[in-house]
Amino acid sequence: MDTTHTRESIPVVKRDEYDAAWQAKREAVSIEGQETLYVELITALERKRPLSGQKYNRTMRKFVKRGLPWLNKSQVIDVYERLCAAGLMTFDPDLRIHLQMKPTRSQAGVTVVTVLTKPYPCPGKCIFCPTDVRMPKSYLHDEPGAQRAERHGFDPYEQTAVRIRALEQIGHPAEKIELLILGGTWSSYTRDYQEWFVKRCFDAMNDEESTTLLEAQEKNAVGPHRNVGLVVETRQDRIDVDELRWLRYLGVTKVQVGIQSMDDHILAINARGHDVQATRDAFRLLRLAGFKIHGHWMANLLGATVESDVEDYGRLWSDIAIRPDELKLYPCMLVKNAELHDYWLRGEYTPYTEDEVKYVLMACMTQTPRWVRLNRVIRDFPTTNVVEGNKKANMRQIAQRAMEKEGLRQQDIRYREIRREQVTLADLELRVDSYQTDATTEHFLSFETADERIAGFLRLSLPNCDTRHPLPELEDHAMIREVHVYGPALNLGDDSQGEAQHMGLGTKLVLQAKAMARAAGYGHIAVISAIGTRNYYTKHGFQLNGLYMTCPISD
Ligand code: SF4
Repeated sequence: MDTTHTRESIPVVKRDEYDAAWQAKREAVSIEGQETLYVELITALERKRPLSGQKYNRTMRKFVKRGLPWLNKSQVIDVYERLCAAGLMTFDPDLRIHLQMKPTRSQAGVTVVTVLTKPYPCPGKCIFCPTDVRMPKSYLHDEPGAQRAERHGFDPYEQTAVRIRALEQIGHPAEKIELLILGGTWSSYTRDYQEWFVKRCFDAMNDEESTTLLEAQEKNAVGPHRNVGLVVETRQDRIDVDELRWLRYLGVTKVQVGIQSMDDHILAINARGHDVQATRDAFRLLRLAGFKIHGHWMANLLGATVESDVEDYGRLWSDIAIRPDELKLYPCMLVKNAELHDYWLRGEYTPYTEDEVKYVLMACMTQTPRWVRLNRVIRDFPTTNVVEGNKKANMRQIAQRAMEKEGLRQQDIRYREIRREQVTLADLELRVDSYQTDATTEHFLSFETADERIAGFLRLSLPNCDTRHPLPELEDHAMIREVHVYGPALNLGDDSQGEAQHMGLGTKLVLQAKAMARAAGYGHIAVISAIGTRNYYTKHGFQLNGLYMTCPISD
């Protein structure tokens, strides 16, 4: 493994052609003398619901004929905000979200910014995993996020800063940012690189340089773009107590781990290099340390069948030591630059047909518990890379429609979360779903409507008293692993009505969690807070205490 990369060898890319073009595109247009026409344009766009690309273009064309220049989305939002500032229109956050036309990215109340680490070897040798020397392991050069990262030389500052600017320019509020660091196995990069990378992301969120990571974190706790979640992806065999502490030091709150299969034989022939027990061990440590666990599971690996896959998926939930909080469900996609391609050429591997993929997805989606968020179904490789098998990137929607037609029930969080619906407190009821793991009792507290739409939830983890805690300072502590309240992301100070984020649901959930932990006999409660949520928890009586924020709860 190459461990020779140093800070000096990390490429820094200056503003490139792409940025220059981007900058030019966002030049502000002059509205002087044409204010009335611009108001008419915004009003016309407001009436197009949903505002598809086609409807946008058609409307734009009409106004170009009447003398306006062609505006891109960023410019429309800019014009709208200037018209409001001039008192010619009344600012409406809902209209701004409507105009940005891509509302889903921030609909869970938080804006996601994805950055990629530099190309680097991964200790894994998985036969299904693509290799592209231009990319960190497992990423393809032409994936959308990967292209963006490459354009910026994989520089963390550039990637984060440009993404925030771009999102803000198209009207996405970016005060609350979940930072998703992708690329191979995070823990295999040198710790110097990891610390430098995270610090530079914080520098970009802070709009300001710091000399150390701790300084950058302190600034972020009160900064303009607060980090409300930090996610890395790593292997289960890299998780030990030392790694838990290191991840917390960096500010990590969620860890993505490739479970891939619950069958030791399948793991072995696909050269995963670990067994199922390694996943159980890692998950126990991660869960006790309060991390949110985001698993990846794959169908159609070498040696699997449609039937064995459906059974294997069930074991994710029947095995109490696994039970991740979130999941990506990826049927294997056959690409040329993975070793599996040779197996296929030799006739030793056959990708599922589209119908088989649909069947497996349907069977898996119906088995997914209600406290799990099924984040992604189908890897978003550009389908031109897929040699044989399913090429439909929208297979999730196809499977969902088929399930609805057959009356099959889906209950995962993503399927049920409220998006733009207006709800009031009177519409919501607190519900608690409890389940066991090998080291904890988990309580999933959620505020739901009568038809089980989720407005907010909290994961309360109560460690078993007979389990020796891997982090002794957390003995006698209940743990809040996640608090999530939905609603479009709005910047602080924006007006909002009926959105879950602003009904105090977070406060209600935290109070309920404290009461439950107290009733269960715990003297303290801890929270795995992201750096930018520290102020929020301070208001709830928590204090920073080493790697966690904690609060006494005994009577
Ligand atoms: S561990 Fe992950 S990134 Fe590394 S080879 Fe295996 S699948 Fe690819």
